[in-house]
Amino acid sequence: MNSFRDYNNVHNQIRNTYLLSRKNQTVRYVKNMHKKYLTYEKKMFIKDVFKKLEQFVDISDPDITLPNFYHGIQTAEAIRRDGYPEWLQLVGLIHDIGKIIYLWGSDKDGTSIKTQWGIVGDTFIVGCKLPKQIVFPEFNKENQDITNPIYNTRLGIYKENCGLDNVMCSWGHDEYLYQVLKHNNINLPEEALYIIRFHSLYSYHKKDEYRYFINEKDKHMFRWLKIFNEYDLYSKSDTFKLDSNIIEYYDKLIEKFIPGSFLYF
Ligand code: FE
Ligand code: FE
Repeated sequence: MNSFRDYNNVHNQIRNTYLLSRKNQTVRYVKNMHKKYLTYEKKMFIKDVFKKLEQFVDISDPDITLPNFYHGIQTAEAIRRDGYPEWLQLVGLIHDIGKIIYLWGSDKDGTSIKTQWGIVGDTFIVGCKLPKQIVFPEFNKENQDITNPIYNTRLGIYKENCGLDNVMCSWGHDEYLYQVLKHNNINLPEEALYIIRFHSLYSYHKKDEYRYFINEKDKHMFRWLKIFNEYDLYSKSDTFKLDSNIIEYYDKLIEKFIPGSFLYF
């Protein structure tokens, strides 16, 4: 009885988060979030970021069991086990740490623990028509840009094949961390930054939407998005044991790619 009610609560929270996201993520909102949160004045060590994320439970994720730190390590470990390069292991480890925005976020922006629609969930491109193949498509009609004729066409404010680098995605932990890493001049290949930026754009990498925006770079990157997504989704396991060797391995890996092991957020 209890577990049944729990499931319903979780389900409603997921629905509601997606409803608010679809409703409020507009061109204007996204631009405001870039201005407001991309200030890069808060220095934080990666290990403190993970510590703080222990208190953050992603309400859009139906498979939540472990704190985000474990999800990062499990993703990284699965990538390492299959022999992929160190940079991809690091992406596995840190891809979700943009959720740290909740520390300085607000309920109004959807960037707090209570209201997470500006942090988590699948992303979509703002400034153009919403795709049919998206989670909860019935919420598309709620989007506040939908009646604006400039935004409401197939290409909207963009050009055909302009490349995903040149479109604006809904605001969340993907775009936030991408911008933070770019600003901090991190020693990661372009593939790594690209994966981090688009890993929640499921309509694109899982459902084949938005093909008319892609260019040569996106074609090259697609393969990496797909590889990463396998590990992001299917590495979750409750039997995972964390030992000091693993911690030491990832401490070194972080230091190798992020000198000083801190970032300015
Ligand atoms: Fe994520
Ligand atoms: Fe993830």
